[in-house]
This record gives sequence, structure tokens and C-alpha cells, in this order.
Amino acid sequence: SSVAVVLGTRPELVKLAPLLHELGPAARLVHTGQHWDEALSGRFIDELDLPAPELLHGIGGHPRGTQIGRAVEQLDELFAADRPAAVVVQGDTNATLAGALAANARSIPLVHVEAGLRSHDRAMPEEHNRVMVDQLADLLCAATTENRTNLLAEGHRDERIALTGNTVVEVVRRSLPDEDSRAAVLAGYGLRPDTYVLATVHRPENTDDADTLRELLSSLRSIEASGTPVLLPLHPRTRSAVERFGLGPMLTRLLVVPPVGYGEFLALARHAALLVSDSGGVQEECTVLGRPLLVVRRSTERPESVDAGFAALVRPGEQLTSAALTVLAGLPERLERLARTPSPYGDGLASARIVRLLEGLAERPATSDLQ
Ligand code: UDP
Repeated sequence: SSVAVVLGTRPELVKLAPLLHELGPAARLVHTGQHWDEALSGRFIDELDLPAPELLHGIGGHPRGTQIGRAVEQLDELFAADRPAAVVVQGDTNATLAGALAANARSIPLVHVEAGLRSHDRAMPEEHNRVMVDQLADLLCAATTENRTNLLAEGHRDERIALTGNTVVEVVRRSLPDEDSRAAVLAGYGLRPDTYVLATVHRPENTDDADTLRELLSSLRSIEASGTPVLLPLHPRTRSAVERFGLGPMLTRLLVVPPVGYGEFLALARHAALLVSDSGGVQEECTVLGRPLLVVRRSTERPESVDAGFAALVRPGEQLTSAALTVLAGLPERLERLARTPSPYGDGLASARIVRLLEGLAERPATSDLQ
């Protein structure tokens, strides 16, 4: 019998790839279409060698409630027509919540990969999605002990929680191009190892407010002006915000390119002197690649990266600029230290553990402990 893996965005494709491979022919990939375009999904399905998706329709670009409602309705029809033995969701997107609600509505066992992350920032829709999905899941796969502690503190029962590590460790190891290919990627951008900044920005807290976005771009320009090139693969949401706010002229001097494929991104990140990002996934990837990261966010649900010394939270503007210049000034010692620091996200065996747990889950009634 099949396992339906429900997802809708680029980071979910990345993080669930090892699990889809481990499941083999039992896996059904269901894509809600939340981010359905070539740059953010099609290319990742090819590059990560994932099965052809069952694609929902009419979801991308709509408000959150519409996305969730439409996805639940279509998933319900899919699950009624061909009932999976279990549903797997990952992370905290609208697709994650829709997958969880649809599984719950049909009493299909639900597995949440990356359970127990908490930013405690209720301004973020992702925080609400995580909390709700953890409530619905039959099996909570916590990546770290901190995640497990968060779940226990909310009253989740220990026997529903498994400490698995994060699948990011294995996907980075498998997808990082070899040294020659990485050198070719860097050469393609005219960059040399350890001498450039790689930046990504797409969270609403940075893109929805003109002043914040202006501050952020102005910091990146100051970093560039100090002599370090800044490569910025521009997310479509950020590109439209730049156009809407008339900030186009601030992109000059930055190396602005469209979003890049996964192997290419890892190659660029592996040799960056510094990463600047508001991404969730990059906060984990930097620990596997051993590179410093400045997180341009008010809060993080991944304090492990900060505690281990890979990442620091900064505000766009003066704080970002001065933190970046400090990192760049002490780079060799910092890179040496990070190369010796293990990733807090586990040993790279998470997907095998999750698949073993899934086999056990399918054997018992999903809702037995709710009765
Ligand atoms: N990424 C990529 N190409 C890019 C920018 C990011 O492959 O041009 C990858 C990055 O390595 C990470 C994922 O996309 O694995 C992060 O996606 P995003 O920032 O959209 O989502 P988040 O992680 O914040 O949920």
C-alpha cells in the first residue's frame, strides 16, 4: 500500500527527497501547487530525481485560507479515490496543514516530519501551521532534542514522539556537487572561494514593508562597497516587492540572478564567506556546510544553529552591516572553528529511521489513543 507525501514548496521537496527515495515505489508525491513554477518546483523534482507528482490546481497565488481550503477539498477526493496507508507532511507550510487536515478527515495515520519547531512568534503563519499539525499527527518526528522538549512542554505524549534527526543532513551530503563541479559553478559567476556573500530573502517580514526591504538592500550594498561581492538569487516574491516599491535601482552593484537549482545553490553556499538569509532551510544547511550565516529575522524556530555558533539573528540595516563586516574580518579563524563543529541536526540517517517508524505505524489504528 502507498504512502502519500503531501507538499507544496521548494524546501519541502528538498527535505522530503531522502524520504521519497527511501520509500521507493510505495511513495506517492502529491504537490498542492503552492509554489508551482519551473524555478521553484519543476526543476527540483527533476534534479532530486523525485517521482512524477499528482498536482492539485487553483492554489498558488491565493490567500492563505483559500489555499488551505482548496487543497483540503482536493486531497479529500484523492484520498477517497485511492486511500493511502499513511500521509507524511513536513515543516510548516499551508500545504503541510492541508495535508494534515485531509488525513485527519479520513482517519489516515499522519506523520509530521520536523515536528516540534517553535519560534513562539505568533505573527508568523508558519508557527500556527506547526502547532496545528503537531496536534493532529500520530507520529511526531522531532529532528533535535530541543524539538522533542517543545512537544513534551505542550503535553504531547512521549510515545508519539521519535527523535530522528533532520533529513537535511542527508540531502545536503548527496546533492553537494564534487569539488570540480563546484569550482565550475563559482567560475560561472566570476567568484572565488571565501570571498563573496550569498544572500536569499523572501519572508513577508522582509518583503512586505518598503522600509525594511530598503534597509536590507542598503546593508547588502554597504557590504559590497566594503569589497565583498554579494550574489543574490532573487525569489519571485522579492522581485515583485522590489518593483512595487520602486527599489530597482538599489539592485545595481549586487549580483542579482534568478533562483538557482539545488546543487548550484549548495555549491555557492559551500564556498561563501558569509550567508545572509531569512530562509528556514539555509539555517540548517549552513551547519552541514560549515559556513557562517546571518539570519535576517525577528525570531527563529531553529535556535540550534545559533547555539552551535553557525548563525546569529540580526535586523536589516546597521546591525546586519556591522555583523557582516565583523564576520568577514575574522573569517579564517571562524571557518576553522565551524569546520570542527558538528551539525546539531543529526547523523544523516533520519529518512531510514522515519521509514522504519512508518512501517510500525501502519500496523496500528491511527486514532486509538484519542478514544
Ligand atoms: N534554495 C535553492 N536555490 C535558491 C535559493 C534557495 O535551491 O536560489 C534552496 C535552499 O538551499 C533551501 C531551500 O531552497 O534548501 C530554502 O527554500 P526557501 O528559502 O524558499 O524556504 P524556507 O527554507 O525558508 O522554508
